Amino acid sequence: MDIYISHIDKSFDKKQVLYGIDFSIGSGDIVCLLGPSGSGKTTLIRCLIGAIKAERGQIKYGDIVVPNLKLMQTIGFMPQNDALYDDLTGENNLKFFAGLNKMPANQQKSRINEVLDLVKLIGDRNKLVANYSGGMKKRLSLAAALIHNPQVLLLDEPTVGIDPILRRSIWDELKKLKKQGVTIIVSTHVMDEVSECDRAALIYNGRLINYDNVDNLLAKTKTGKIEELFFIAAETYERGASNAKSS
Ligand code: ADP
Ligand code: MG
Repeated sequence: MDIYISHIDKSFDKKQVLYGIDFSIGSGDIVCLLGPSGSGKTTLIRCLIGAIKAERGQIKYGDIVVPNLKLMQTIGFMPQNDALYDDLTGENNLKFFAGLNKMPANQQKSRINEVLDLVKLIGDRNKLVANYSGGMKKRLSLAAALIHNPQVLLLDEPTVGIDPILRRSIWDELKKLKKQGVTIIVSTHVMDEVSECDRAALIYNGRLINYDNVDNLLAKTKTGKIEELFFIAAETYERGASNAKSS
């Protein structure tokens, strides 16, 4: 499902956080929202699921305009801070999310096994989430986002606090889902992770400073490091801010 993000402005109180964000995402792409902490990634993702409303602009999945309740059943969302229940076991958390997504009871058991296996939590399924490590919670949270076989996945910093081996297996899994036609949007502040994606939207201070396929983005740098594009944006932004002050 193609996603169209058009001219999104978002403020909290009087502070503007997103400025005219405008780009579209092709079906089956892995797109990374890359930007430093505080640049607006989570805010954009919350607009994308319809949890908050932008003052200006529109988001569409195919022909469907956000917010739309039915659309939510085709989207899997993994929040930055997990939304798990500490006093339930890992498995019962997944049962809860399967029910929330209206998954038929006779399909739940096998799907729960599948996603638990995927995130390597089969052996810990009966432990209370209160006793899970940070990395285990991240993995369970990913399993919860996948439970209803969504067509679109929105993952907010899914690999933070995850060891390199598991991180590799998560990226491998995301690539398998892509092959099945799932569209994946993943936010990260880890610049290296950009190489895992088809395209990247670079976000700096609430502005989309670049959006292209990853090879083209890297070709715009001298060092082959994506950081460079942020340094240029930071300089331009500082210059713009000081010009505005002196005029
Ligand atoms: P990122 O996910 O890239 O770290 P966020 O989208 O969380 O960035 O935050 C972008 C900016 O918006 C920050 O300055 C943050 O303080 C502000 N912000 C985010 N959510 C809220 C909120 N609910 N109320 C007020 N300010 C917010
Ligand atoms: Mg964030």
